[in-house]
Amino acid sequence: MYNLFSMRPVIETFADDAARAESKATSLELRVRMLEAHLIKAMIINETLWEIMKEKLNLTDNILEDQLNKVDLRESTSKECPKCHHMIAPHHPICIYCGQVIDNSIFT
Ligand SMILES: [Zn+2]
Repeated sequence: MYNLFSMRPVIETFADDAARAESKATSLELRVRMLEAHLIKAMIINETLWEIMKEKLNLTDNILEDQLNKVDLRESTSKECPKCHHMIAPHHPICIYCGQVIDNSIFT
């Protein structure tokens, strides 16, 4: 048999935990939306720059695709996280296991 009065601190702790979790989820959801907006903006800038380069330098989409494939092959080997030593896909600039920044290159 439970004494509801003695359970009150436990219930309040659970309520506080739930409120913190909800607040954190809301904050992270906002952050994801901001990142999505930044990604869309970066994609539009990227496409615009490609269209300018294509026109000014007389390039084609095939040239871009060939170069993308070369870069993709060059970057296709996994990297080891220097902090936790998990293997990370090369396109991840941050270790998905521990958050360690893997590569500060401007292209990643
Ligand atoms: Zn790591």
